[in-house]
Amino acid sequence: MNLAFISHNECQDHRMGAHHPETPERLHAITDRMIASGMETLVTHYDAPVATFEQLTRVHDPDYVRMLEEAAPQADGLLTWIDGDTAMSRGTLQAARRSAGASILAVDLVMSDRLHGAFCCVRPPGHHAERARAMGFCFFNNVAVGAAHALEEHRLERVAILDFDVHHGNGTEDIFKGDERVLFCSSFQHPFYPGTGADCDATNVVNVPLPKYTGGKEFKAAVEERWLPRIDAFAPKLIMISAGFDGHAEDDMAQFNLRESDYAWVTRQLHELAVKHSRERIVSCLEGGYDLSALGRCVSTHVDELIGHA
Ligand SMILES: [Zn+2]
Repeated sequence: MNLAFISHNECQDHRMGAHHPETPERLHAITDRMIASGMETLVTHYDAPVATFEQLTRVHDPDYVRMLEEAAPQADGLLTWIDGDTAMSRGTLQAARRSAGASILAVDLVMSDRLHGAFCCVRPPGHHAERARAMGFCFFNNVAVGAAHALEEHRLERVAILDFDVHHGNGTEDIFKGDERVLFCSSFQHPFYPGTGADCDATNVVNVPLPKYTGGKEFKAAVEERWLPRIDAFAPKLIMISAGFDGHAEDDMAQFNLRESDYAWVTRQLHELAVKHSRERIVSCLEGGYDLSALGRCVSTHVDELIGHA
């Protein structure tokens, strides 16, 4: 089946300083690896549109969106720090609108049945962005903007969001906790940044905290036991993924020991559930992943599994 690969050059114009790990080079590393692995020729490329104020404020406080618009620096070389590790450069607002817009286009494409799946190769990432708060390198919650679009615009009854980034998806939880149209599953290193995820009692949230040094065996066991039965019972009409690859063994951001094969495995499980429940509709949004070599390899493998081999 054909897969949309959605990105935009303006996603590279968001720069948080020379030593910040969330760099434009992350997207270059992915593109290079996609070409080297031959995956580049197997996907259909799309430019990410700009998410509108209306689309963003389905999940974000309007005053928060306006605050970001006003905080954006007007000149090159300036940074406005919104959070301890999260800054806006001149190009940030547009990059963030493109990142959220990618997820909107992805949902529209899979709902049109022109393509079954989509990967949003964008930055800044989104899953730490809460309803009214930027943090953890995130401004707009891309996957949440897409999910809300599927629920409101396409009138889908149920959307599952699966987050295998090494950090808890606190923003996605903040936005959708208690909304029974959404099932949110997150696996993450704990205790670790951002410190959330161990105490949520919302019935539509499945948090799976895992200790540092978690490897593929433990990760797979947790996903098989905690995620897969819940997703299967939920019978989502659309599966969305917060695809962070910072749990890779070569990624210094955290202390998980996952490999490409583990990300391939979890993607295959989710693809199979999409075949079973959601007419193969699956949308994946890039989150973390900071070791450039590992990130390129992981995304290439992930995209290969999203295409599916059925
Ligand atoms: Zn992360």
